[in-house]
Amino acid sequence: MDTGIDTAVRKKAELIEAGGVTVDSSFDPFKSRSTAGPGAGLESIFVDIGGHRVRLGVRPSSRFSATLRDDTVTISADGSFYARGRLEQAIAHCPRQVYITVSEKCIFDCRFCPVPKLQGKIKTDEEVLSLVRDGMKCPDLTAISITSGVWRTPEEEVEKVARLVRLIRKELDGRDVPIGVSVYATADSSEQLKEAGAVEVKYNVETLDRELFEKVCPGLSFDHIVDALEHAVAVFGKNHVFSNVLIGMGETDETVVKGMEMLASKGVIPVLRKTSPHPLRAGEIYIEPVTADRLLKLAAEECRILKKFGLDPTKALTGCVPCTGCDITPGHDLY
Ligand code: SF4
Repeated sequence: MDTGIDTAVRKKAELIEAGGVTVDSSFDPFKSRSTAGPGAGLESIFVDIGGHRVRLGVRPSSRFSATLRDDTVTISADGSFYARGRLEQAIAHCPRQVYITVSEKCIFDCRFCPVPKLQGKIKTDEEVLSLVRDGMKCPDLTAISITSGVWRTPEEEVEKVARLVRLIRKELDGRDVPIGVSVYATADSSEQLKEAGAVEVKYNVETLDRELFEKVCPGLSFDHIVDALEHAVAVFGKNHVFSNVLIGMGETDETVVKGMEMLASKGVIPVLRKTSPHPLRAGEIYIEPVTADRLLKLAAEECRILKKFGLDPTKALTGCVPCTGCDITPGHDLY
């Protein structure tokens, strides 16, 4: 049956559904370790399959396994050939971007997120700038993305990130590399970040199911995040404000579609992301399997909704929308 979906995109969706691959030691120099969000603390590799990038989590067991020869990755499913692609190297966290997590700690306790459990480090200005300097040596650098947990207060975190954006701009010395920021919004975070030189923001609503939000994001306010997103569009413009939406915590497709309409009507591009169970959150949250079919169906709905509200994800400059590694991304994987 012709579903109109590129074979490579279907395979990407099936690999995202599986959550990762097993790899041998030939991948060791190419593994990237995430320090932010639901995948924090886990390793991955990036593969371009037929022009579609996929981030593959490195797992101790999976029906998929990957082998590497030169820069060609061969993926097998249950021992039989499944797909072939080109290995992509991360600059810092992901290909073509320097993606930096400033505070790997968080005072909030979103039930899907390992960051509050990991209680990682707080990067110094010099550590952040050193990652930027290394990234500037890569000819294919296209963007700098900054994210941060909330170490002490959301206000202090925004001030710190805005200061870092200024320092990074100085370091770039006129070089035209866009900077995007993902933080917990405050009353004037958009103004502060814009003034510092950021061109895009992402404030994560995490789920479009309000009841679920209360359960999985205790202490955060759904309305505050949505209001901040709407305001951010006034500051940064359409196609430059994003919000992660996790799929697989028990929400219905109807809720997701309605929620995407609500965000897109305000000029916000949703980033639909399969929720990955993290070992540090085992037993704390219900996470259901998310099939490739569901991911493709919701992404197709998102394409329709973005068009309806005149949004164009190919205009996004930083972070997950141009990266595309973790998601079926409108404008890149589906149209
Ligand atoms: S899609 Fe986002 S979270 Fe995933 S690898 Fe790319 S930048 Fe990182």
